[in-house]
Amino acid sequence: MKKKFPVLVGLACALVLAACGSGPGAKTTGIQVAASFYPLAFVAEQVGGTNVSVANLTAPGIEPHDLELKPKQVGAVQDAGLVIFESNFQAAIDDAIGQAGRDSKDTIDVAKLVKLQPLPAGEGGANGHAEDDPHVWLDPVNMIAVTEAVRAKLSAIDPAHATAYRTNATVLTTKLKALDTSFSTALAQCATTKIVTSHAAFGYLTQRYGLEQIPIAGVDPSNEPSLAQLAVITNLVRKDKITTIFTEELVSPAIAETVAGATGAKTATLDPIEGLSDETAHENYLTLMAKNLSVIEKANNCS
Ligand SMILES: [Zn+2]
Repeated sequence: MKKKFPVLVGLACALVLAACGSGPGAKTTGIQVAASFYPLAFVAEQVGGTNVSVANLTAPGIEPHDLELKPKQVGAVQDAGLVIFESNFQAAIDDAIGQAGRDSKDTIDVAKLVKLQPLPAGEGGANGHAEDDPHVWLDPVNMIAVTEAVRAKLSAIDPAHATAYRTNATVLTTKLKALDTSFSTALAQCATTKIVTSHAAFGYLTQRYGLEQIPIAGVDPSNEPSLAQLAVITNLVRKDKITTIFTEELVSPAIAETVAGATGAKTATLDPIEGLSDETAHENYLTLMAKNLSVIEKANNCS
């Protein structure tokens, strides 16, 4: 099911892909980089700086799980100087790259850079999904690997600016390392290690920082839980004294609110950073991750 939310920030992107980055400062000169969803576009913009223009193929407000490409975007995948994507996550992108006959010379497949984890039990294979969990970007350590790959590839394509790419990559890597340290430190001692999330996006984050994810929906946010699954989650929330049910920006909060209402828990937003929305248009990957950390700290009573 395609979920569309108000997408004022996405309109310009939808109309003129080439003029569209995923944030302020996007421009159309330099190397054209097509990134298949927001966190990858963020890295490309940070590392590429003024020497690239980045098109995010998943417009703001759209769930990347549901991505369908317009013909113009298929053209962008064909023509871009560099395509950054994650295989087995967005079938439309995999198809477009296959059709364009692009190889690893000028593409970066993030799924090949990081150690993929299997989906939570029972989530594999549904709706044609692959068996691996795609949400690799929610572990800052994985984003460091993406940063280095983008630096290396941009430097190979555009050696004249290799020094600038190295400087930019060092700056971003330093910020990602600081983010990783702040998560490890803040989440070292928590009253509960379980987090109840809208969809199973937080497996890499919870694995990295010693937490356990209990997703209400599956790995695809459009999969809705059965009544039996809801009852199991509701019981678990009561038993484990979970204070907060996490909702997210791009997915309807109705089911999370049902669980919260039945258990007396609160709801709070935990952002899987699959894309920006009108509400988060002024944020970026780093600020959203910092917000995620502070809501987890509060919900789980971490000291
Ligand atoms: Zn997801």
